[in-house]
Amino acid sequence: MTKLKSINPSNKKVLGEVDVTSEGEVVKKVQEARNAKLMWKEIGVKKRVELLTKVYDALYERRGEIAKADSTEMGFPITQCRDYNLGDGFSFFKWNIENAEKILSPEVTYEDETSKSTVYYEPRGVLAVIQPWNFPFCQWSWGVVAGLLAGNTVVYKPSEEVPLSAILIEEIVNLCNLPKGVLNFVYGDGKVGEFLVNQDIDMIVFTGSTATGKKLYKIAADKFIPVQLELGGSAPGIVFEDVDINKTVDTVFDQRFINCGQACDGLKRLIVHKSIFNEVVEKLKNKLESSIIGDPLDNNTQFGPLAAERQLDLLESQVNDAIEKGAKVITGGERVHNLEGFYFKPTLLTNIKPEMRVWNEEVFGPVLPVIAFDTEVEAVKLANDTRYGLGAYVYSSDKTRARRIVGMVKAGNVSINGSNYVLPMNPFGGYKESGIGREHGKFGFHDLTQIKVVAEEK
Ligand code: NAD
Repeated sequence: MTKLKSINPSNKKVLGEVDVTSEGEVVKKVQEARNAKLMWKEIGVKKRVELLTKVYDALYERRGEIAKADSTEMGFPITQCRDYNLGDGFSFFKWNIENAEKILSPEVTYEDETSKSTVYYEPRGVLAVIQPWNFPFCQWSWGVVAGLLAGNTVVYKPSEEVPLSAILIEEIVNLCNLPKGVLNFVYGDGKVGEFLVNQDIDMIVFTGSTATGKKLYKIAADKFIPVQLELGGSAPGIVFEDVDINKTVDTVFDQRFINCGQACDGLKRLIVHKSIFNEVVEKLKNKLESSIIGDPLDNNTQFGPLAAERQLDLLESQVNDAIEKGAKVITGGERVHNLEGFYFKPTLLTNIKPEMRVWNEEVFGPVLPVIAFDTEVEAVKLANDTRYGLGAYVYSSDKTRARRIVGMVKAGNVSINGSNYVLPMNPFGGYKESGIGREHGKFGFHDLTQIKVVAEEK
């Protein structure tokens, strides 16, 4: 049997091995999910909430173990891993449990003396849920829970970079006695994912790169099934001259460098008014140079390794491309040579040109290109100069101006002065090549259902 090797990115040692699910097993799991479909629909949302609450409780009980497993396997600094990966994973799970019944209940949309119309939210059927590696527990929770509550059954494939994290979740879920076939795990790389989506499934729920998302969209088109695609991002951050500079630098630092810069909606291109450009760059440089890089399991670590060697190679080639095309390295710009794992120095680049890969590709690591602007029009043009449209950040003490800019920025999630939009009741998703559909809140639930209208005589 083929094995997936899990590598500890902080020291390159093998952490363990997981069996790759064979094609025969994938077919069997999809069939089991199909067999469970009707039962899971008919037990109703109340019962589904009850069963999934047990899963929530069992996972929550073992949250310390999950945090350690995720931090070890993908290098997420442990304090950030607890706050964001587990924090968001559990808070969204809880909100979904608490709100599923209300959101999925039938809605009367029309009524007069003689007739009534009602909208029903029916499950779509079997979901193939495929996720990336950057927030392992959270991605499982975001990908799977709302779909199950809506009455779908699921075949879930985690990323090949974090199989041990998923094995732990599967082991805990298996102790909770969910009915057979409702939630199935398969393991492997893109080939297993591609085989899975070519089976008899009813919807693709995917989070990952735009390149993979495009392939899956084509497969879904041939099968004529819906997709929910949460893809890459290259969020701009526009800093106007009227901000509190210290506060803004702290916020930009968090919004760019959490999880070592490996967040889909992280601030990946900083656009600063020319009058404060040097001061912002200097303060960011000081912050980066005084950050703690090291063991992800140490509570004080701010920067861990990248999750995988291929990510380190990619980041290095993007930075080298910028340097070759004239970028100035303010700090960083290379691997950390005295650490064993996949570490890259927190990096600030200026003299940025649009043809540089750090500007026009998604940069998934601790690297921030900074560019100056003069007028509002110029700032918006730079912000929208990307094929992505997931997140965007605007900083100004003039709220009217900030809202005007927000109206012109093409992105699904926009934050003014650091406010957090990642909340379970908010829809999350992208414009342009950052995705199709929205997850979370009532919007996400409705995406995961078939909507049926029934008109009846009174
Ligand atoms: P990826 O596209 O390489 O892989 C994602 C998943 O798809 C993995 O499980 C992989 O095995 C699987 N896969 C790969 N090729 C496949 C194929 N041909 N058919 C079916 N499945 C296939 O992405 P990644 O490197 O794991 O993740 C990083 C990307 O994810 C970044 O672009 C990031 O922005 C994005 N992301 C987006 C969001 C969001 O909500 N928009 C959230 C997190 C990460």
